[in-house]
Amino acid sequence: TSPIHIVGGGLAGSEAAWACARAGIPVILHEMRGVQGTEAHHTDKLAELVCSNSFRSDDPDNNAVGLIHQEMRALGSLIMAAADAARVPAGSALAVDRDDFAGRVTAAIDAEPLITVRRELVAGLPPADWRNVIIATGPLTATPLAEAIRDLTGQESLAFFDAIAPVIHRDSIDMDIAWAQSRWDRPNEHGDTQDYLNCPLDKDQYNAFVDAMLAAETTDFKDWEANTPYFDGCMPIEVMVERGRNTPRFGPMKPVGLTNPRTGRRAWAVVQLRQDNALGTLWNMVGFQTKMRHADQVRVFRMIPGLEKAEFARLGGLHRNTFIKSPVLLDDTLRLKADLRLRFAGQITGCEGYVESAAIGLLAARFAIADARGDTPVPPPVTTALGALLGHITGGADAKHFQPMNVNFGLFPPLVPPPLSKDQRKPALVARARADLAGWMAA
Ligand code: FAD
Repeated sequence: TSPIHIVGGGLAGSEAAWACARAGIPVILHEMRGVQGTEAHHTDKLAELVCSNSFRSDDPDNNAVGLIHQEMRALGSLIMAAADAARVPAGSALAVDRDDFAGRVTAAIDAEPLITVRRELVAGLPPADWRNVIIATGPLTATPLAEAIRDLTGQESLAFFDAIAPVIHRDSIDMDIAWAQSRWDRPNEHGDTQDYLNCPLDKDQYNAFVDAMLAAETTDFKDWEANTPYFDGCMPIEVMVERGRNTPRFGPMKPVGLTNPRTGRRAWAVVQLRQDNALGTLWNMVGFQTKMRHADQVRVFRMIPGLEKAEFARLGGLHRNTFIKSPVLLDDTLRLKADLRLRFAGQITGCEGYVESAAIGLLAARFAIADARGDTPVPPPVTTALGALLGHITGGADAKHFQPMNVNFGLFPPLVPPPLSKDQRKPALVARARADLAGWMAA
């Protein structure tokens, strides 16, 4: 059998290499660390955790990341096995001793006879004789490869930098205060004029909100991040406020063309939310990319009328992050439409986090294995945590505003029929996911 080439020995690449070898397929794993480092990694170990030591909640009944842990264990994940073995006390979360964790992954890969690790930088598109490739080079993909990918896929399709606005669960927005309306009632391609949700602020509310943003703490910007220029339209909201306390009222918070149906009037300022996923369960705050600390974001953004009880699927942030516009570039088994030899996995596909990156590595490997055997790869059902995350990457997200995302219940298709009460929602989603994963695995 010809080998599967995997570029990048991080969370996704290590997971993928292990899965391929366990299926009896030889792997060549190309990892540059040892020859060339990144701004965030400190060692040459495989699957190094660059920041926190947490794999987040390990509760499969109440948390989508806990559920994906369980699904990955069921599929024989090396990353989960190493994490379980390197576990340190952290309540209901799964946290690990990072050296022990990366040491276990590295030792397992080194001891696997079907895997050859080559310490080398892949400095451009893989050569033509690599027929089955997984690119898992992560948020800090080396520039020559990132530029080659961008040249192949087009200028607009690869981001080097991530300026993220918070994303909110739709069912936590108070629709007795917010209303649906597009600015100037401009119709979309289907003639609908209610694409945005609008939260009104009066003058006092606006001033209090601006004061809170000015007083909020922001995260440090590392030197290497500070040297990366802002893209147009990506200015953090608090930087905008520093330029003038009314600047947002002429930018993302402008109230013109919007009429509050409860007063019949234009508000002093408006925060707009735009649908973030095809299901309509997640909405992002338009123009609110921010460097505010996470705790401050929750406190400050809940001052906005209609968002007092907002639940955040993700908070805003700003950092170097290489990722591709997967919803338009990849097919449903993570292959690049422009070059079907190449599959993508890990954070470069637009998932976010250690666990999600490894999960997509696991799926990419299963699809690559099917190709190597001449079988047809079958994605997991979209009702499972793995399938919901894959669906976000390959199709569910709004391609134009695609931003990396953690796994969360907002990515799951709604229950049919809807649950009788909110309390029944998670248990029903989890039960459906378990049944559907079992069916998929059996098939
Ligand atoms: P990585 O784990 O980064 O692995 C990619 C590998 O590819 C690296 O080993 C790299 O050396 C190698 N590589 C890159 N280019 C090439 C090339 N051209 N040739 C050969 N090898 C190459 N996630 C969390 O869950 N929690 C956190 O606290 C967290 N903090 C973060 C902090 C920072 C500063 C950054 C940048 C990211 C953080 N993340 C965090 C996200 C984290 O990076 C990802 O969740 C995860 O590491 C991604 O896994 P991956 O396998 O896609 O990429």
